[in-house]
Amino acid sequence: MTPSCDFINLAAPGVRTLHPYQPGMPESELRRQYGITEIVKLASNENPLGPSPHVLAALPDVLKDLARYPDGNGFGLKSALSDHHQVATDCITLGNGSNDVLELIARAFLTSQQNAVFSKYAFAVYPLVTQAIGAKARIADAHPADHVMPYGHDLDAMRDKIDALTRVIFIANPNNPTGTWLHHDELEAFLWQVPPSVIVVVDEAYAEYVVEDSYPDTPSWLERFPNLIVTRTFSKVYGLAGLRVGYALAHPTITNLLNRVRQPFNVNSVALVAATFALSDSDHVARSRQLNHQQMQIVIDELANLGLTCLPSIGNFLCVDMKQPGRAIFEKLLYHGVIVRPVDNYRLTNYLRITIGLPEENQKMLSALQEVLTT
Ligand SMILES: *Cc1c(COP(=O)(O)O)cnc(C)c1O
Repeated sequence: MTPSCDFINLAAPGVRTLHPYQPGMPESELRRQYGITEIVKLASNENPLGPSPHVLAALPDVLKDLARYPDGNGFGLKSALSDHHQVATDCITLGNGSNDVLELIARAFLTSQQNAVFSKYAFAVYPLVTQAIGAKARIADAHPADHVMPYGHDLDAMRDKIDALTRVIFIANPNNPTGTWLHHDELEAFLWQVPPSVIVVVDEAYAEYVVEDSYPDTPSWLERFPNLIVTRTFSKVYGLAGLRVGYALAHPTITNLLNRVRQPFNVNSVALVAATFALSDSDHVARSRQLNHQQMQIVIDELANLGLTCLPSIGNFLCVDMKQPGRAIFEKLLYHGVIVRPVDNYRLTNYLRITIGLPEENQKMLSALQEVLTT
């Protein structure tokens, strides 16, 4: 079908050259295309334990009310989050996943006149939301490969990228896909150096998985740094990626601005209830954290037996150096029913990102990998 005019050139400038986000391959696609039924998906950093049983028990009641619009202000979930983080409810913005919140930030603070600063190898959504709005990206070099945090955020380099037109800085802690992280002291020092007129977004999608002592407690920093936005999600440790809920914690004025560009019902009614129950089950979170911590060490050790090393990670995933193009290994693993994530779109060509799964999933991935590497 030939379009009646050149729609590409009619699109907003940022959209013309935009490459859409590349998600992990869904199990259904592997089933459909390869006819494989026994599938292990370790490609999107989901919680292999799934959501809390309390969430599943609460769902039938919500379904009765599907004809009703959700609470557009998310009162119940915000109250629970307010207790959980010890912040006022007017500091909380709910999103359709934290991805939605990142987009609200771009819409509220960026125009084609301004720029956003982020690191090379940072989470792919930052360049996406920046470019979609037509703003410029100022990309800071990451730490070199021989640094203690290889390919991790270099805060000095990021600070040097700030200019008079910088409105937003995106930081992922830990970063996806690398897994690398920033310590309390360096992040706090950075925040003191950033002009108060520049919004600093600290994306903490994996915070609940972290067992590292030096990890910053950023929600307690909001009063000291009114330009700080902390984002969190229910997609990772809470096991609700399919329902799409995330949130931002920020100064009430920033929260108010984000609220202006938010869709009136951006979080659906099922998600609101599920997230509230998920938040209340701290045992499930602890169990998930513990399983991840234990299994990650096992996977690291067994990868080492295969001669493979990983970037340091405090998330629920490892960025593994395959010493050859990762995409070819990814494709071979598919035939074994194992889905992992190539990261060549991040220019980490020789790496694969692998989510930590259940013990049996990890073992299946490891034996498939061994077979792929030795045949
Ligand atoms: C997974 C992830 C998110 C979460 O995205 P949702 O939209 O909440 O599912 C955000 N930031 C990073 C760095 C992530 O890895």
